[in-house]
Amino acid sequence: LLRSLINKKAPIQLGRVCYSSSSVPTTKLFIDGKFVESNTSEWLDIHNPATNEVVGRVPKATQEEMQAAADSCSRAFHSWSETSILSRQQVFLRYQHLIKDNIKELAKSITLEQGKTLADAEGDVFRGLQVVEHACSITSLMLGETLPSITKDMDTYTYRLPIGVCAGIAPFNFPAMIPLWMFPIGMVCGNTYLMKPSERVPGCTMLLAKMLQDSGAPDGTLNIIHGQHAAVNFICDNPAIKAISFVGSNQAGEYIYERGSKNGKRVQSNMGAKNHGVVMPDANKENTINQLVGAAFGAAGQRCMALSTAIFVGESRKWLPELVERSKSLRVNAGDQPGADVGPLISPEAKTRVESLIQSGVEEGAKLLLDGRNVKVKGYENGNFVGPTILGNVTPDMTCYREEIFGPVLVVLEADSLDKAISLINNNHYGNGTAIFTTNGATARKYTHEVDVGQIGVNVPIPVPLPMFSFTGSRGSFRGDTNFYGKQGIQFYTQIKTVTSQWKAEDATVTSPAVTMPT
Ligand code: NAD
Repeated sequence: LLRSLINKKAPIQLGRVCYSSSSVPTTKLFIDGKFVESNTSEWLDIHNPATNEVVGRVPKATQEEMQAAADSCSRAFHSWSETSILSRQQVFLRYQHLIKDNIKELAKSITLEQGKTLADAEGDVFRGLQVVEHACSITSLMLGETLPSITKDMDTYTYRLPIGVCAGIAPFNFPAMIPLWMFPIGMVCGNTYLMKPSERVPGCTMLLAKMLQDSGAPDGTLNIIHGQHAAVNFICDNPAIKAISFVGSNQAGEYIYERGSKNGKRVQSNMGAKNHGVVMPDANKENTINQLVGAAFGAAGQRCMALSTAIFVGESRKWLPELVERSKSLRVNAGDQPGADVGPLISPEAKTRVESLIQSGVEEGAKLLLDGRNVKVKGYENGNFVGPTILGNVTPDMTCYREEIFGPVLVVLEADSLDKAISLINNNHYGNGTAIFTTNGATARKYTHEVDVGQIGVNVPIPVPLPMFSFTGSRGSFRGDTNFYGKQGIQFYTQIKTVTSQWKAEDATVTSPAVTMPT
């Protein structure tokens, strides 16, 4: 079905039908294996960030619809969790093929709703695909443990088992990768899944849901609801839901962590960031400048692992003019235009916020080395564009340093020594990612040991771990105790059952009750 739709060149409309009173397509709900129109009276517009044209509408699902989705997950749980692990693995083996075959179509839907360049959107899908590929190793990942002969005739072993209905709440910035961190891992473990994509970019998740259905996932194993606060509260409060995976801002993440935990659910909450890149004077200059520019301005800075802060140590500060020149060479354009490097921000509100944070830097004493405000993009005058911007002479008390900007803005600090750079970073609220650029092994080792950040790159600007590891943001960037994907992801979506069994020879019966603790 998916193939035929793609052949008709209409895959972006997938999961949507025409809204009766308007020509704008509406996003459907996915309930019990069917893509259904919501009965709600409340709809949100989805905009193309390059033009601000409305490209679709998304419903705020009603309480009844959300309950129907949760009920469907509950009903499907028993049979799905009892489905052999080899059959679940087969579903995800087919799924990874379908995603791989349709990367370009998925990327188009991402660029339409989110704005990032097509090449970057393909990377978004690819990094999610890698998680699906990892999920296909579930037959090894879900192994339990055994310890035979703990005493005479007695063995102990553990099973790793699914926990029930799980839910995912996703942000706008990675419409493919982040939902794919969630439901494939949850489901391959035998859980059923209720997904709430970002209301700004629901299209890609709908395509992914259709592909999963086409891969053989039974009805009810994945349900999708849409909405904002009411949908989030529904997930936090619904007693059938046992675990919540959240990725997004601190404001929402801390709220969801607290509300979900209070209701007895497991919650993993990946949140905001302020990632520092430390530039040592012995670094390879050419490499470092290119890496910094790419990691600060790629995806218009709307990545939780963007290197949004640079600390130039000692003499490396002399490279600043070259950094500015290289940043100027990036082409700001609509994401589907050939050669585009920096696409638009997600919304006019995001643009206003980013611009006012740049202005706050100027007013608080930073030096505006490159100003991307007022950038004009021919043919896309209504888009939410901000060009690469660099603020120099930034100090830790400035608003532009303290707040996550989430735009194409690099704030630059200077430090006399590596120790001072480390101390700056360790005093920052966030702990998502960081990178050091150096050619000295001892410097790199000292940095990786002393910096209190969950993900560190050594000459690697965006060290997002591959799925055999886990995404290990820390401190103010994470709430919970079990991370996304990798071994920790499997742990999050499973519980352990421990069996201690004794099989004695037929004639060796227990002759009297033992009332003391067995030792
Ligand atoms: P967001 O918090 O606004 O939205 C995320 C989800 O939460 C959405 O589904 C939204 O509907 C819901 N939501 C929004 N506000 C809410 C509220 N007040 N109460 C309850 N629910 C709410 O985040 P966003 O703007 O979509 O994404 C950008 C943020 O996500 C940035 O802070 C970025 O650093 C972070 N992020 C973190 C990671 C990570 O792994 N650490 C990855 C990607 C993005």
